[in-house]
Amino acid sequence: MKLPTEFVDLSQKIGADPLLVQGPGGNTSVKLDGQMWIKASGTELVEAHDKNIFVAVDPAKALQELDGVGDGSCRSALVDPDGRLRPSIETTFHAMFEQRLVFHFHSVATIVHAIAVEGRASLADKLEGLRWVSVPYRKPGIPLTRAIQAAVGHDPVQVVVLENHGVIVVGETIREIERLIDEVEQRLDLPVLVGASDTNIRPIAGRWEVEGWEEVPVVAALVHDPIMLGRATSGTYYPDHVVFLGPALPVVSPRQFSELNPALFPVPTVLVEGQAVYIKSDATSAQRGMLECVFNVLSRIPIDWTLVPIGKEAEAELLDWDAEKYRQLLTKREG
Ligand SMILES: [Zn+2]
Repeated sequence: MKLPTEFVDLSQKIGADPLLVQGPGGNTSVKLDGQMWIKASGTELVEAHDKNIFVAVDPAKALQELDGVGDGSCRSALVDPDGRLRPSIETTFHAMFEQRLVFHFHSVATIVHAIAVEGRASLADKLEGLRWVSVPYRKPGIPLTRAIQAAVGHDPVQVVVLENHGVIVVGETIREIERLIDEVEQRLDLPVLVGASDTNIRPIAGRWEVEGWEEVPVVAALVHDPIMLGRATSGTYYPDHVVFLGPALPVVSPRQFSELNPALFPVPTVLVEGQAVYIKSDATSAQRGMLECVFNVLSRIPIDWTLVPIGKEAEAELLDWDAEKYRQLLTKREG
């Protein structure tokens, strides 16, 4: 089946913009002749031109997963169950919308609003005139789809803001989707308040070289700006951070860092007090993208906004860790 070129093009285009999609995050779908083509789990939208990243499901069967049929992964809805690709974990909410096109992505501009009390409150003014709803945080998969279903009801919506997660844009034509994406991005755009170019932020390249770690100068403000440091280390704010970087970013002293063996450290990135931000040399591009996303989000949060982390329970749920293992990691970190 040849998918509409404009659908593949727009999927690739948002996938290539780190302010909209980071790593394998986000997913798009199109309904064609009774089937729904959705991005496969683990693939990246940016690869839409180079690889087969879409897989066909029966949308009616995907919806049955909400009633307990299947294991929640929508494998039972695959048109070709023997194929290599598996549908995205977020397939059920794509199937839920009657509209032909569903674009879901982790827009930095939306996340900035959706993780802060004041940001959430400002959405009514900023999105006025659009048909939109917001949905409280739920774990991606069946729980999130149920929450979206409850918030949307029977009214046709254009935009769904997912608190502590991202945004969904739905419509019938690619033109409509493209316009909605631009509209939401413009209305929710906030300037970068702190950046690596600030005069008081000087990444100290090469000063602390520890084998197996690489400095990431573009995100140095995460350790040099006290407000960003506080926010980055006191919680996580959206699921992909947890999935790719683990719980809140850890901080160590330069002395501790000089002895830090990356092979034994449980998460891919570490903040070194007063120095710089490091990532493991063997980190994946998704992990690197996710670290930049932390900077992109936190550098846009106004100083007087109050952030709402997803909380330790939600983190443990995302990591599929039992509570005990999670508690041990936190204790180790605090010790
Ligand atoms: Zn998502």
